[in-house]
Amino acid sequence: MQQILNYINGSFQAANSGEYLDNYNPATGEVYSLIPDSDATDVELAVKAAKAAFPSWSALTREERSEHMLNVSKRITERLDELAEAESTDNGKPVWLAKRVDIPRASDNFKFFATAILHDSSELHDTDGKFLNYTLRQPIGVAGCISPWNLPLYLFTWKIAPALVSGNTVVAKPSEITPMTAFLLSQICDEVGFPKGVLNIVHGLGGKVGSAITEHVDVPIISFTGGTETGKTIARIAAPMFKKLSLELGGKNPNIIFDDCDLENALKTSLNSSFANQGQICLCGSRIYVQKGIYNEFKTRFVELVKEMKVGDPKSADVKLGAVVSKAHFDKILSYVELAKQEGGTVLCGGKEAKTDLGGWFIEPTVIEGLDEQCRTNQEEIFGPVVTIQSFETEEEVLAYANGTKYGLASTVWTSDLTKAHRVAAQLHTGIVWVNCWLIRDLRTPFGGVKQSGVGREGGWEALRFFTEPKNVCIPLH
Ligand code: NDP
Repeated sequence: MQQILNYINGSFQAANSGEYLDNYNPATGEVYSLIPDSDATDVELAVKAAKAAFPSWSALTREERSEHMLNVSKRITERLDELAEAESTDNGKPVWLAKRVDIPRASDNFKFFATAILHDSSELHDTDGKFLNYTLRQPIGVAGCISPWNLPLYLFTWKIAPALVSGNTVVAKPSEITPMTAFLLSQICDEVGFPKGVLNIVHGLGGKVGSAITEHVDVPIISFTGGTETGKTIARIAAPMFKKLSLELGGKNPNIIFDDCDLENALKTSLNSSFANQGQICLCGSRIYVQKGIYNEFKTRFVELVKEMKVGDPKSADVKLGAVVSKAHFDKILSYVELAKQEGGTVLCGGKEAKTDLGGWFIEPTVIEGLDEQCRTNQEEIFGPVVTIQSFETEEEVLAYANGTKYGLASTVWTSDLTKAHRVAAQLHTGIVWVNCWLIRDLRTPFGGVKQSGVGREGGWEALRFFTEPKNVCIPLH
């Protein structure tokens, strides 16, 4: 059985404890690899290595750091098939999805920040012809990067790339549920000759490794993506230490469909925005609101299309949904379906395990109608292939529904009235609004949520700003 290893100070090593955790293939339900059960002592070694590497890494020119990043990007692309297979085996997502989205995006993350940094420039202010102010942006030190299991390499590299290219060194922890592509990434970084200690990857549990990174006095900056409750824990620990924080957390995103929309496009895209990656994308629209005039038509056709979505072997090219990530998550999702029934909902399709002969954790894509806005099913993040659907009459009404949760990550609006689109977009309390499209991600744009969906923004200059500290220097001109 394959053993994943930590990557610390340029060497591959087991956890200090010598213990391993089981790593499951969600499609078969079987353990297929082992991951180091690391603890604070492994994190200590990683932070020490990252701290020691910081002076020389941050002293490289941006072109030199950029070159390292571009080499990684290239190797990820060269190993596309292998990485996509690994991501699928680890996470349960269809191989075609990993090949089309996750792995190319991981390569793009390195390429994007490698080139963006070359175009960054300092601010300069001439103060009444008497003084010159210029603002240096300096790397901070050892950055802690903690990522979740839903888009493993995609989100892991979305943090690591801007952190490194800005001149920081990194101690990173992937989710213990999906560690494989992070392990392969450490091999790639080693192959392309990353200096020792610049990137350190420590595998293991959030409560041991993640918290040790968060608590470490020599890690002044934390970039975290994951659940809102974990985000709160991290914020509580980091606050007294005045750490710089970026928290990308949960969502309960509204998908608003007005009478005057392009119905075909809204239907087709809503299938994707509801169920892509088994609904395990923080940006999925899990609450569908359809205006009264087209509600019945939309609902009927949507449910028909959902019933046609094939669930099964992630290796199969015609499968739309693979397995959900773990047995615990499978149970959690189905428990929400039961809750929805108790709360008065009607399951229009799905709502149960999808039978396969693979042995893993598959759930039928599920649509639920007839729930009150305030019920738990409509308020809490399910993070699986389950959406609720409800009609509305007025713009005001749907805005109240859309904004009526503690989350504020993303929203989608379907209308052919441009004025309405602008008006509604401005009033949605979310960090991202898509109009007549979904999940178009331009890496230059700010990414993140409001309310309990997080603090701070990733993407483009926002990420490069986050991973650097501005220092203003003022000098008399005469
Ligand atoms: P978790 O919050 O459970 O875990 C995220 C990461 O944090 C994992 O690596 C986890 O390790 C680690 N962790 C757990 N506890 C601690 C702790 N006390 N201190 C430090 N690190 C810890 O989230 P999930 O992995 O379950 O991911 C799903 C969540 O992520 C959903 O809520 C989803 O909405 C959100 N998400 C948000 C995105 C955004 O951009 N806003 C994007 C993608 C997902 P371990 O796996 O070992 O528990």
